[in-house]
Amino acid sequence: MRYEYLHPRDELVLTMQRIYRYKMTTTSGGNLSILDENADMWITPTGVDKGTLTPNDIMCMRADGRMEGLHRPSSEYPFHKAIYGVRRDIRAIVHAHPMALVAFSIAHQVPDTRLFHQAWRSNGTVAFAPYGTPGSEDLGGKIAQKFAEGFDSVILENHGVCCGGRTLQEAFQKFETLEMCCKVLIKAHTLGEPHYLTDQQLQLQGKSDVPIDCFEYDPTMMSIREKDLRNQLCRFIERGYRQGLLTTTTGSFSARIDGEKFLITPYPLDRHSVLPEDLVMIRKGKKEFGKHPSRAVFAHKALYDAHPGIGAVINASPINAMAFSVCHRTVDTYTIPESYVFVREVSLLPFEAPFNGLENLTRTLTLQSPAAVLCNNGVMVVGDTVLSAFDKLEVLEHSAEAVLDAHPIGGHVAMSQEIIDDLIRAFHLA
Ligand SMILES: [Zn+2]
Repeated sequence: MRYEYLHPRDELVLTMQRIYRYKMTTTSGGNLSILDENADMWITPTGVDKGTLTPNDIMCMRADGRMEGLHRPSSEYPFHKAIYGVRRDIRAIVHAHPMALVAFSIAHQVPDTRLFHQAWRSNGTVAFAPYGTPGSEDLGGKIAQKFAEGFDSVILENHGVCCGGRTLQEAFQKFETLEMCCKVLIKAHTLGEPHYLTDQQLQLQGKSDVPIDCFEYDPTMMSIREKDLRNQLCRFIERGYRQGLLTTTTGSFSARIDGEKFLITPYPLDRHSVLPEDLVMIRKGKKEFGKHPSRAVFAHKALYDAHPGIGAVINASPINAMAFSVCHRTVDTYTIPESYVFVREVSLLPFEAPFNGLENLTRTLTLQSPAAVLCNNGVMVVGDTVLSAFDKLEVLEHSAEAVLDAHPIGGHVAMSQEIIDDLIRAFHLA
């Protein structure tokens, strides 16, 4: 879906539904606004159930002071107004009280977004605004002060978070990525000390334009296999998002069509609603004209080139596996038979593995050792089909969560080598 084609009323409702559905607000908490080109502000109402919000419920605060709509505007209207007053570039605001960000808010801490590239890229340094009474001009002034200093994401003391962007989608992405960053940090502290990316590493992943030659794609030549794979990939990407395995902007999925062609997710694109025509075809190392593949495209290509049996590759950042990733720890799969049988031994690769020295990546990831944790860069899994790669991603994330959940109750006891040898025999694992 292209949000830029939506009226602010519809965009506000869809975004609020998404925030509510993914448990990032309660029925009563949170408010969103958009400032349009006439300086009219469209804002969510106060006192309306966030779970059943419709476009008719959205309020419009005209630039000349008139108020239009069926309700009253959000009680936090003063701070939305104050932020727009100090930052001409900000045209949309997301405010809510999601759990992990509230944990930071009540601990009086800000997360270090250098934890992973997307968190840093979308939020930069996060500010902390002192407490103010909800709905007051005082609170508006304190938050606006931080935005005036140049911050786009501000944690509010004992309250929640506020993110601003040039569009509502941009503000939402900052908000969603920051909540994910906080969730990962909280989980990571169970394991040890998280590591952060250096300037050099941030730069390495920041190259958004992948230099790659183009070819003229002709959709009338599309084979049944290609159509099938385009639809399969979209379904699994959407499922991955709904299952919390991906966020709006993290993760790359690909599937091999034949010996010289594969399909990969575009960059950048909302993973919540990828359409078959959005996917990028790569043929003989060239990309489909007019589209931009995920930045991990060369890593995907290297894996297909090195291993003819690999049919799908996924790079994703599910919360629990990410906790291992930022602590530079691998996930133990000697936990339950399902984990070992599907995921086998999980390798640990340096942050640079998908960019430099692709030999290390292709030597490590094979159908026999299909999963790797990449330091501060999520996980990578391969499979002979999209379903099989997705299954491994899910099993890996579940294993990571179980190991983390076992920590407070005494830690997990790994299955013995004898059990593993028995599983290898019973399931004919090579
Ligand atoms: Zn609030």
